[in-house]
Amino acid sequence: SVFRDYGLNEEIIRALDVLNYLEPTEVQSKVIPVALKGQDLIVKSQTGSGKTASFGIPLCELADWAENKPQALVLTPTRELAAQVKEDITNIGRFKRIKAVALFGKQPFAPQKQELTQKTHIVVGTPGRVFDHIERGTLPLNRIKYLVIDEADEMLSMGFIEQIEQIIQKLPRERVTMLFSATLPDAVKNLCLKYMSRPADIEI
Ligand code: AMP
Repeated sequence: SVFRDYGLNEEIIRALDVLNYLEPTEVQSKVIPVALKGQDLIVKSQTGSGKTASFGIPLCELADWAENKPQALVLTPTRELAAQVKEDITNIGRFKRIKAVALFGKQPFAPQKQELTQKTHIVVGTPGRVFDHIERGTLPLNRIKYLVIDEADEMLSMGFIEQIEQIIQKLPRERVTMLFSATLPDAVKNLCLKYMSRPADIEI
């Protein structure tokens, strides 16, 4: 598989084979090498371009299996997207036994809290419920090294930007931040200016 050229672990390559991802999509070929280097990223691309795997593959590759606390946080505007991203990451990370958890509202809190007491590598969630967990002390953030903000323009139109800022302010400063958006309105650009360092700009 062409994915081998990125130097990915054999477990990730095998999972991509099973998913029948034979070669990277355009967004993947641009994002994966930069994300693997640990550079911040602003990615302007549409859904359906394979953007989920463009961050899912690096997150699964870079996750340290032995670490018990969450290492990556992915924020999505909707519950449906959170569930989908969690599923995609689980599929990509299956042979590395990467554990992803989805946190979103309109669901009881207790089972999510319970899930978070077990080894979790990657947390995917909507800003409101993620913030709830942070406030209640059920989501440890001190090992978070990667933050992904997915569909940032949707986050903006749904009024989530302030909540996202509140979350970011609680994350370790030493981290990699990746933002994906179909469009880049000023409020989204400002978020990038405020919370990223020397991001690579990728446009598909
Ligand atoms: P996304 O833009 O992340 O919603 O992905 C759109 C669709 O493309 C999903 O059904 C993915 O499973 C599929 N997909 C993502 N990457 C690849 C790839 N490299 N080869 C084939 N299909 C892919």
